[in-house]
Amino acid sequence: MTFQPKPPAKIMVQATGVRKSFGALEVLKGINLSVSNGQVMCLLGQSGSGKSTFLRCINHLERIDKGRIRVDGELIGYKEHKGYLQEMHEHEIARQRIHIGMVFQHFNLFPHMTVLQNIMEGPVGVKREPREDVRERAHAILKRVGLAEKVNAYPRQLSGGQQQRVAIARALAMQPKLILFDEPTSALDPELVSDVLDVMRDLAQSGMTMIVVTHEIAFAREVADHIVFMAGGEIIEEGKPGDVLGNPCHPQTQAFLSKVL
Ligand code: ADP
Ligand code: MG
Repeated sequence: MTFQPKPPAKIMVQATGVRKSFGALEVLKGINLSVSNGQVMCLLGQSGSGKSTFLRCINHLERIDKGRIRVDGELIGYKEHKGYLQEMHEHEIARQRIHIGMVFQHFNLFPHMTVLQNIMEGPVGVKREPREDVRERAHAILKRVGLAEKVNAYPRQLSGGQQQRVAIARALAMQPKLILFDEPTSALDPELVSDVLDVMRDLAQSGMTMIVVTHEIAFAREVADHIVFMAGGEIIEEGKPGDVLGNPCHPQTQAFLSKVL
């Protein structure tokens, strides 16, 4: 019997030396991180530490000043030519964003569309997929997030937790390579948080690559493969949940955890 060496996990997201300033304020001071295919990274840190800005850089909603971000090997937002970077055209950036789902704190659903229309809009309107295929997929995804009976509801008729699950369904319908979550449960009433976290846990178990900014430490401990702590635009500590959360080294990590735990 021959032993096949296990192929190394493919790197889905790789950030190297990412810097970003708003005017004189340097918000990202050289971020280096990578997320392997199928892994969940939780990004923790105090408000203002640069977490949202970093997520937004990954799909080029913010332009980075220095460094590189690659998703599935492809440089985001720029083309490299003889060592120089040239920003892509808007339609090329839009093509890259198709593969990168994003779920925000404030669900951002289209208020004038039903749940089904919200979910079908991207695949039909942006990816130009056949409507009937997308409809079938949308129903399956709604079932998966526990909202099969809400297909024809409007966002205002749903609770915050249900709206957020629609937002996750909408991201999934695009069949992304990666989903970015920016504090997906922070705007929810406490009793609605667990339904959303259950959906995210299910996604993680199904092998979706995820970067999750969250203050839900118990979720991070259970679901994350890797935890990254940011402070003042830098990564101050990272590692496995048991190590980082159980035995934090950096004083700012200790202070943060003592506040949220
Ligand atoms: P976090 O998500 O960790 O709370 P953010 O990435 O939202 O942090 O913000 C990091 C810093 O960048 C904050 O000081 C914030 O005020 C500033 N900032 C974020 N977006 C902008 C912007 N568009 N213009 C100017 N400053 C910004
Ligand atoms: Mg934020």
